[in-house]
Amino acid sequence: METIDRRGLMLVLSSPSGAGKTTIARRVLAEDTGITSSISHTTRERRPGEVDGKDYHFVDKKTFNRMRDEKAFLEWALVFDNFYGTTRAPVDEALSAGRDVLFDVDWQGADSLRKEAEGDVVSVFILPPTAGALAERLKARAQDSDDVVARRMAGASNEIRAWEKYDYVLVNFDVEQSVAAVHAILAAERLKRARLTGLEGFVKGLLADL
Ligand code: 5GP
Repeated sequence: METIDRRGLMLVLSSPSGAGKTTIARRVLAEDTGITSSISHTTRERRPGEVDGKDYHFVDKKTFNRMRDEKAFLEWALVFDNFYGTTRAPVDEALSAGRDVLFDVDWQGADSLRKEAEGDVVSVFILPPTAGALAERLKARAQDSDDVVARRMAGASNEIRAWEKYDYVLVNFDVEQSVAAVHAILAAERLKRARLTGLEGFVKGLLADL
């Protein structure tokens, strides 16, 4: 299919833990070949089933600090006592090549990314349909200890308070519906004039041929 050259966009997804963000993100990544996931660096312990280099780059604090000092991160944050960061180079490369990148970051990460790259960021906040649904999902995820679950519940109100800063807010009543909404957001945002770097040349050529 012929298209006009464009700059890639940064799809930033945030939500309190347990709102279904990971499920939605996985589906979007599987169904849309134009977008890939940014793989963060973290000092958090690897959960069972997580793969180094796929889910995260798992690093120790010393490595994380060194990377931070070398300005390798586009943004970084301390979330529940662990450091998380997004490296700059793969993002720059993807955006210039017209490929979109999905970021699963907390509200602090979203704030930093907006500051660093406002024109490229499309931010989506995912809310749980009820507080009970959030608690259920967190408990069902048996990988975390009771203590971690309790702290994540407490952290949820903090995260939810950031909802007004996002371009789009989805209430995750139904995964299918939410996934469809993210596809619709992507489809429209990809057509934004400001991202279509090839448009000026195209119009010039069109006018020259008239
Ligand atoms: P988890 O430990 O459950 O994988 O992630 C905990 C929180 O850290 C989630 O809210 C997730 O969005 C956030 N997070 C993951 N990677 C990054 C990152 O690179 N930067 C920031 N700021 N937050 C991140």
